[in-house]
Amino acid sequence: MNAPESPRIAVQLPDGLNYVNGQWIDDPDAERIEVRDPATEAIIGAIPCSTAATVDRAVAAATRAFHDPAWASLAPLAREALLHRLATLIEEHASELAAIESLDNGKPLAFSSTLDVPVCVQWLRYFAGWPSKLSGRQLAPAMLPAGSTHAYTLREPVGVVGAIVPWNFPLVLAVWKLAPALAAGCTVVIKPAEQTPYSLLKLAQLIEAAGFPKGVVNVVLGDGRTGQHIVDHPGIAKISFTGSTAVGKRIAACVANDLKRVTLELGGKSPTVILPDADLETAIPGAAQAVFVNSGQICFAGTRLFAPRKTFDRVLDGIASVGATFKIGAGLEPDTMLGPVVSQRQLDSVMGRVEAGIKAGAAVHSGGKRVAREGYFVEPTILVTDDRQNPAYREEVFGPVLTATPYDDLDELAALANDTEYGLGAHVYTRDLSKAHQLARKIQAGTVWVNTQLAPDPHLPFGGFKQSGWGRENGEDVFAHYLETKSVVVNIG
Ligand code: NAP
Ligand code: MG
Repeated sequence: MNAPESPRIAVQLPDGLNYVNGQWIDDPDAERIEVRDPATEAIIGAIPCSTAATVDRAVAAATRAFHDPAWASLAPLAREALLHRLATLIEEHASELAAIESLDNGKPLAFSSTLDVPVCVQWLRYFAGWPSKLSGRQLAPAMLPAGSTHAYTLREPVGVVGAIVPWNFPLVLAVWKLAPALAAGCTVVIKPAEQTPYSLLKLAQLIEAAGFPKGVVNVVLGDGRTGQHIVDHPGIAKISFTGSTAVGKRIAACVANDLKRVTLELGGKSPTVILPDADLETAIPGAAQAVFVNSGQICFAGTRLFAPRKTFDRVLDGIASVGATFKIGAGLEPDTMLGPVVSQRQLDSVMGRVEAGIKAGAAVHSGGKRVAREGYFVEPTILVTDDRQNPAYREEVFGPVLTATPYDDLDELAALANDTEYGLGAHVYTRDLSKAHQLARKIQAGTVWVNTQLAPDPHLPFGGFKQSGWGRENGEDVFAHYLETKSVVVNIG
């Protein structure tokens, strides 16, 4: 299936089929979901909205693979080698994967080729280092006579993982789940977002080529209904979800039924805080990138700006002029810096929130409109308000939209940064080391970046305080969610 005629790079998309037990299968009973190019609104393919029967087949395959010695008894170093092989295959298919991601999601090739695809390789290589280091400990029981007991812990893979990912970083967020789950020895049923299925299907081809046993990774296509079948399936031991806070809350309620393990990486309304002493040469482009990169569709985007009243206009003019340098265009046009948002629905949602903010009194500093061309493009937008009830200040917009608020008093900064139900990330710009560390302690967020932005790392735990979620991805901490700890006590007295 090819992209529509255009001067852009031609992209070969994988067929829209489920990948279950090493086979590419359709779901004959499923409705079709059209997949669109967000830059042209043209239909580029269709996928099945897979039914409970397909989810059942995928869970059965993953369960068999979980117990099959071909996977379960693999030496840790052999599991590491598989992950490295997959990383190498991604490197070999890097330009193809980046082009698929840019067509499907709309994101600039300049980013998908330098960020999304390399990040997948780095994450897989990082997690490839873990299987041989995951083990329990020998412990001395506190209540028994010394030497009478041999006690130790085992760390066992939790079972079949149900992974559900959103459309903003389709490949990256799939790998953030697959890499640690596979390193831990779990098997996986994973669902991409209906808007962006193709990069994960290409990845499934590479997973097969890398030599993972059949059924270890299964890709099931569909929308939220298919996701719900995964959440409800009794054969799944753990749900790893990235998406909206609304769906995350629903999943939390559903897993209460059978107490499945669950991690939730949800929404954000992360602050960018510029202190009076900040180096504005760093802070202005940093604040602009934090909100405009990926058209603002980043869960930890810096969407609430707090700048000193004295330099407020200068900071806003600076951010707007950086935004104006982001060339707007289709992801596959090589010089594009600002692609479309992902769908008509997302466009309506972003514009609805901007309009609601303006109606409630926010002033438009710059942007504020849909770009007058085909595709779902939104102007880089800055709204100004000091009304902390304004919906543009409070609600996640998930588009290239910054809400800016001036401040007078340094002592109110932590309270302003924390004035949100979310707590995913925060960006602080200052040259004062003490203030940087003091604020980092006071801010309620899973990650605080100081004098830098948008910089997750595979070794650093990532996740949310408050309504930004439960649990942490990345780093050693992630294994708490993919392994169960078992204590073994042997009387040797
Ligand atoms: P979403 O609507 O919650 O969808 C996320 C995924 O969940 C999609 O695959 C979706 O399927 C699926 N889904 C929907 N309803 C479901 C249900 N009842 N049961 C199981 N799965 C269900 O989120 P989105 O609008 O696509 O993504 C944007 C949101 O994700 C933003 O709020 C953003 O902040 C958040 N996000 C968070 C992080 C993080 O790491 N914290 C990272 C990226 C994005 P379909 O879309 O196919 O219907
Ligand atoms: Mg798409």
